[in-house]
Amino acid sequence: MARGFVTLRPVRDINLELGGLLLDMATLAGDSQRGWGYKRAAKAVLRLDEPITPLVHANTLKAVPGIGPTTDRIARELVHDGASAFVERAVADAGKAEAIAAQRGLRRNFLSMAAVTEILQQRVAPSRARYRGDFQMHSVWSDGSETLESIADACLALGHSCAGITDHSYGLPIAGGMSMAQVAEQHKAIDALNEKHQRRFRMFKGIEANIRADGTIDMEEHELRQFEFVVASPHSLLRKAFDQTDRMVGAVSQPGVAILGHPQGRRFNNRPGVTADWDRVFAVAAARQVAIEIDGSWDRQDVHYELAVRALEHGCIFALDSDAHSHPELEFSAIAIAHARLAGIPQDRIINYWSNARLLKWSRGAWDR
Ligand SMILES: [Zn+2]
Repeated sequence: MARGFVTLRPVRDINLELGGLLLDMATLAGDSQRGWGYKRAAKAVLRLDEPITPLVHANTLKAVPGIGPTTDRIARELVHDGASAFVERAVADAGKAEAIAAQRGLRRNFLSMAAVTEILQQRVAPSRARYRGDFQMHSVWSDGSETLESIADACLALGHSCAGITDHSYGLPIAGGMSMAQVAEQHKAIDALNEKHQRRFRMFKGIEANIRADGTIDMEEHELRQFEFVVASPHSLLRKAFDQTDRMVGAVSQPGVAILGHPQGRRFNNRPGVTADWDRVFAVAAARQVAIEIDGSWDRQDVHYELAVRALEHGCIFALDSDAHSHPELEFSAIAIAHARLAGIPQDRIINYWSNARLLKWSRGAWDR
């Protein structure tokens, strides 16, 4: 690890543990009133910006909206005994030990909001204040809910000086993917916007393209060349257990690809995403300077800090993005920063801290490396 950078290690994310136990209870309760109550409580715990331990000691956890007496009981067991006998008994009584163990695997290396908040309070790199802009976000041109003008204003309000718009490509019609005619229209709108903001703010023309099963990108080269940078992401085969190393190596090998978006395609408590020999993928990505994305989207957190450490060891560069589909989601970039801090990624290895000129030189270089 580079000198001068502090690598943080998570001690214990007790909010993540409690939220997880509540989701286990929700699974046991099934599609019922109780099931929904547990889900609501889990959400409240995972989004709480302070650890539950002092609240349990002060007997104030129940005051948090969405949290009832059962959650309070599970939290007490967790704080005092390190585990919840109540939940483990319920799992055993239901005969669901195997299913619950599998579900627990789908929550590994996520961070609760309390953990993110604690990590962001540390005075270590990468900086939150110097973060220049975000390189994965969606607008009304595909499945996002905000206009380009309003996105520029929201990014400026966050103190950003650039942004990469990455609406979905025509290969993903379910997400409102843009036709190439729409892309031409969008690019005119981005030019006008950059003209208006002059040097204050620069919007980059990106695209989120799909990685096919064989590792190729589902757009033609002359189409990809119309963008200032290309994010390639897996949007299919995310629940399959078979090895997809060749697919992911293919994606980072393809000329023009600048960023590997949400590399695993995992979802919190829901699906595991792609299985691959990530060391092989990262080695190729490092050689071609394809940035590995840490997608900070709340239920993605992809790649997570442990995988990021491995990518770093291979010499990769990174993109810390929100994958926002609305203004409040722009804050997800902070979750990506938290993972990068845990992984000890030096700021200079992260494209979000680079100058506009350096960014363009690098993304254009993706065609020649
Ligand atoms: Zn995506």
